[in-house]
Amino acid sequence: MFRTLASSIREYKAPSIRAPLYVSLETVMECLIPYIAAGLVNSLMLNASPSSLLRYGAVLCAAAMMSLLCGYLAACECSLASCGFARNLRADLFRAVQRFSSAELANITPSSLITRLTTDIDNVQDAYMMLIRTVIRGPLMVVFSCTMAFVTGGRTALIFIYVLPFLCAGLYTIAYFAIPLFRKLFVKYDRLNSSVQENVSGVRAVKAFVRGESEKARFTQGVVSLCREFTNAERIVALNNPLMQMSMYTATLFILYYGIYRVITTHGLAINAGQISALLVYGVQMLGSLMRMSMVFVGVLMARESAVRIAEVLQAQPVITSPVDGLREVACGSIEFEGVSFTYPDGTRALEDVSFRVDDGQTVGVTGPAGSGKSTLVQLMLRLYDTTEGSVKIGGHDIRSYELEGLRKNTGAVFQTSLLFSGTVRDNLKWGNSDANDDELLEAAKTACIDTLGLDTKVEQGGVNLSGGQKQRMCIARALLKKPKILMLDDSLSAVDMHTDGLIRARLKEYHCTKVIISQRIKTVKGADKIIVMNNGRIESVGTHEELLASSEIYREMDSLQHEAEI
Ligand code: ADP
Ligand code: MG
Repeated sequence: MFRTLASSIREYKAPSIRAPLYVSLETVMECLIPYIAAGLVNSLMLNASPSSLLRYGAVLCAAAMMSLLCGYLAACECSLASCGFARNLRADLFRAVQRFSSAELANITPSSLITRLTTDIDNVQDAYMMLIRTVIRGPLMVVFSCTMAFVTGGRTALIFIYVLPFLCAGLYTIAYFAIPLFRKLFVKYDRLNSSVQENVSGVRAVKAFVRGESEKARFTQGVVSLCREFTNAERIVALNNPLMQMSMYTATLFILYYGIYRVITTHGLAINAGQISALLVYGVQMLGSLMRMSMVFVGVLMARESAVRIAEVLQAQPVITSPVDGLREVACGSIEFEGVSFTYPDGTRALEDVSFRVDDGQTVGVTGPAGSGKSTLVQLMLRLYDTTEGSVKIGGHDIRSYELEGLRKNTGAVFQTSLLFSGTVRDNLKWGNSDANDDELLEAAKTACIDTLGLDTKVEQGGVNLSGGQKQRMCIARALLKKPKILMLDDSLSAVDMHTDGLIRARLKEYHCTKVIISQRIKTVKGADKIIVMNNGRIESVGTHEELLASSEIYREMDSLQHEAEI
């Protein structure tokens, strides 16, 4: 997992290395300062000459400046490294998601992907920043101040060693109790995020069903419980401070007591006042870095959860991939299903032994009751899923031998729920062909009967400012601009009135490509060269309108019901 994440550091390796180096320099300076200060104190007490005092002062100033400069540089490098790392990680995650097929998206839901792209990466970024600041500084500081304490204080410094085990035990206990609490918190965060996402994207449903108040209550409850648990976790972590202070004061007390005792008994030969003051500073430094290390430890463990979730996405192997040296172009628009059966990843059997053939340029209608497998046919033709058994051929070749991009560029699919993006009508249509000029855009818009809208009309996110029918027609125009060899309209005229439906179909007749028109409206499929009637994942019958009226009971029933509805 760490290797997967670390591969996103890339060009930020240099600052990631420079940062700890600057931090180390800063640490060395910080450790030297008390040593120099001890010298200064002693010179003062021994009534040294002003020039030697001045020298001490100058060295002290230089060391302090150096330490400040290194600290500043370290902070700059740290933020560069961690922000850059997070930037790459986001880009990699986004790229990984782009390769996902429907199968992977069933496992990792969009709302959890959003949490991973935002909160989780933030956590990892923070942890990384802390880590490169402390990974060298912490141990270095402890070793350095310990050594310096012994150099300056001799035996008196042993007092620190006695305090250390108590402190470590305390810190360990805190981490032991706090970490599981934080882990639980993340799961709650996730749920809260997905509830926000659901409510925002489903705001119409929430309002229509007057669920606003209860959703608000549910959310508030979530926030309150999150707050409570966060407080509990932080309460434990907050013990760090008193523990630290207590160790520090205890050590100080003993050092003062024992130090002064030794100053008096040895007449300042074993240890003097300057050394005692340096010793105290080293004590604070050593214990302080231990505490910071423990905080980083907790932070990194917390971020681990996030890291696992990010790595899960990065490591997910898409089940549907392009073959090596796959075909880039679809030669013609013929379609062939040979004994195709298909089961969705969740175990739903959607197709059973489906075989049919459509020649280039033909129009095929597909009809049948809801849930009979019509949309599944389209998903398989786009290779959003691979068949469980049998094969799908397009342009005479198995679709698994095509580059995915080539296959999808040559086919235009329009679904019942149409997805538009924020921008203008022009921006949205250009998804079909980014090079198309306004004339071409208008021509496609005209075929899809959406030319009344104007190319500069604004489209809100998801196309919420357009009617269902307008959205569907936009998507048809968008698909036409791809100049596809095969055009698939999956129930994409359902929100369009009968008159416009007819008009669009008449205009599409002029347009040479294979057309797969899926609809529950008999009128929509009636004019097709061939109509497939689906039922329960199987082909019930195939034929022209007249043939089916004679041979297919389902078809006849649908037809007469729809006639009745019109009367
Ligand atoms: P139609 O388009 O004819 O209404 P579908 O092809 O959408 O039917 O669905 C066929 C069957 O597959 C149904 O039983 C449906 O519940 C199931 N199904 C559709 N999509 C999925 C999916 N993503 N995961 C699991 N089952 C699905
Ligand atoms: Mg459908």
